[in-house]
Amino acid sequence: MVSTVQLLPPITSLAAEQLQEWLSRRGQPAFRARQLRAWLARGAGSFEEMHDLPAGLRSELAGAFRLSSLEPVLESVADRGLTTKLLYGLDGGYTVEAVTMRYPRRTTLCISSQVGCPIGCPFCATGQGPFGRGLRAHEILDQALDAARRLSAEGRRLSHVVFMGMGEPMANYSAVVESVRLIAEEELLGISPRRIVVSTAGLVPRIAQLATEKLSVTLAISLHAARDELRDELVPINRRYPLAELIAASGDFARQTRRRVSYEWVVLAGVNDSDRDADELGRLLDPYLSHVNLIPWNPVEDSPFQGPTPDSLARFAKRIQERGLNVTVRDTRGREADAACGQLRARVQKATA
Ligand code: SAH
Ligand code: SF4
Repeated sequence: MVSTVQLLPPITSLAAEQLQEWLSRRGQPAFRARQLRAWLARGAGSFEEMHDLPAGLRSELAGAFRLSSLEPVLESVADRGLTTKLLYGLDGGYTVEAVTMRYPRRTTLCISSQVGCPIGCPFCATGQGPFGRGLRAHEILDQALDAARRLSAEGRRLSHVVFMGMGEPMANYSAVVESVRLIAEEELLGISPRRIVVSTAGLVPRIAQLATEKLSVTLAISLHAARDELRDELVPINRRYPLAELIAASGDFARQTRRRVSYEWVVLAGVNDSDRDADELGRLLDPYLSHVNLIPWNPVEDSPFQGPTPDSLARFAKRIQERGLNVTVRDTRGREADAACGQLRARVQKATA
């Protein structure tokens, strides 16, 4: 854990109306809030640089707020600079991480929604560590603002956000939904919810609730097994919400939002990559409503699991395809940066233990 002194409240923790009110109490015109938020979106490093705000206001802001709730602790780089991972300290002495992945035509940020994760999947570094707390909406937004700030220095724009970092987004529902709205806000990052992926281990009631939010986010379900007996082990929340309920809820989501659902499948050699697994998956999913993403397991220290060989991965993907499903094999971006779910944090904790 990183020790943080109790600091000023972050400016991003104020809702739009609260910021407006704070400014108008100081006799500022209504457009100041917009100017200030534009600076946040543009990635200002200090209140001082917001040169179209009056000097007195800038120093008053600096005396009352922090720019971000996050304190960068460690950065690691992989794929010749195309992947960067940041570990941040947040209030309460906790740490979370976010990974930026640069592609030719898009830049995707993988963000965290919780410190640790209460679901406890055995193959996942986050699930094996201790659970801390859910992040607040502005702590999620600040990950995206910080990434956007760093990217703008490279002449890049953040285009996509995936909730595939630490934590189970649906176990921190209201903060996650609020953060999606903030990230999508034109005055802030303006990233369309269609380009935001919320990944879940399968909290069925929350999936149903998300379908009613009028928020066209992309839903990803971390499936990893197509029979209850195996999924009970790999994704323990399956004991509470078994496959039949999960698939019904995600099918409803697809129909209500008219958007295909992604099904994530972390490929674990000898555990969930047999012909039988592919055939079961083929029977479980409706090809019109689904897309399967195969993710070769990223090694976690001291873990008994193993990733697939390229051959067995290709064979498994082919078999799924032959069952009529759309399937993509995801790249293993950021392996050297410890990019998979919670691994950077796990390493730092180990090193500082
Ligand atoms: N808790 C949510 C979102 C965060 S995990 C969920 O489980 O969906 C994001 C994705 O990373 C999940 O599909 C998860 O199964 C996968 N993942 C976790 N550990 C991994 C590892 N070591 N290698 C590859 N993928 C991993
Ligand atoms: Fe939590 Fe997702 Fe990791 Fe499972 S895979 S422990 S749900 S973060």
